Amino acid sequence: MSDLPPVDELAPRVVERCEEAVHAFAFDTFWVGVRIRPRAERSADVVAAWKGELKRRVGGELVRRWSGLGRAPDHQRPQMLMVYDLERDRVRRTVRSAYVYGRYRKLARGLPQTRAPWRCTSCRGGGCGQCEGTGRQYPTSVEDLLGEPLRAAYGAASHQLHGMGREDIDVRCLGAGRPFVLELRRPRRRSVDLAAVAEAIVRHASGRVELPAGLRAVDDESLVARLKGWEADKRYRALCSVGEAVVEPGQLAALEASLSGADIEQRTPRRVARRRADKVRRRRVRRFRCEDLEGNHFAAVIEAQSGTYIKELISGDEGRTRPSVSELLGSPCVCASLDVLAISVRDDELLALPSDSAAASADAHR
Ligand SMILES: [Zn+2]
Repeated sequence: MSDLPPVDELAPRVVERCEEAVHAFAFDTFWVGVRIRPRAERSADVVAAWKGELKRRVGGELVRRWSGLGRAPDHQRPQMLMVYDLERDRVRRTVRSAYVYGRYRKLARGLPQTRAPWRCTSCRGGGCGQCEGTGRQYPTSVEDLLGEPLRAAYGAASHQLHGMGREDIDVRCLGAGRPFVLELRRPRRRSVDLAAVAEAIVRHASGRVELPAGLRAVDDESLVARLKGWEADKRYRALCSVGEAVVEPGQLAALEASLSGADIEQRTPRRVARRRADKVRRRRVRRFRCEDLEGNHFAAVIEAQSGTYIKELISGDEGRTRPSVSELLGSPCVCASLDVLAISVRDDELLALPSDSAAASADAHR
């Protein structure tokens, strides 16, 4: 004889618990689970049969109640998972994140990509005019400029920016912009007017951030990993400043010839050595072109493999990057300012389903 409550009596209460747990959330797909603490005297077969029957009864009733709301059961990737815990007599909900894809242009220097934890150097965190009362060294970030309006529109608990790589705080990102996915955790709403939100983001950012291709909802969390692992070539424009020396056009022509198509070796830069493992990486500079020479300044347009440290390619980082502009010119050169001009990846390449899940969905439709 089992000590488990009869499914007939329990099912209506579990249905009510589910309704209570999710009433504030919009979702299209759901699934029901049941959790009970294992006990020695309960046979696994009896428990499995009881759970199966309870899930079937509760799921069936929810389908009946919710089909008018356009909600359907989905075993694989439910937007709302409700797990009834028998001992606690409560439903624990797991809300799948919503994802929004776009590309951002960052037009301001001094703007970090993600929320920076550093305190304001003037007030040390208390809040002052310098930090707009926030107490932070960088009052905002690309992550918050994009994420806060989206978080509010989705009624989400929190947000996180997943970028395809990152630029330094002082580097701008121009051209078509950097691909990103904004993750919205525990969203209460799922149908959002993204054109209106994109407009509000750009207006509020007042020139710091733009969304050249708008925003689109993507129901695919695997895009985050795909974006993180993608190795796209990038094109940069770097303003180079060469100490006191006056640079001759002939030197720049030699520089272009030496660096275009060159493999360079970069030991982890000193400025990031505390955060990254110290190792030597080999990177390909595909194209190196100089323009706008004026005295000891010139601009370099550089196309390089993903992961190339551009500031160090110019400075040489005290011999840790070889060859470098400093080494080839024979006098110390620094990168005075840097812009990302292009990140070589198309939206449709990125957003295409990875081959395995494309095959799986083809199977499902067969
Ligand atoms: Zn301050």
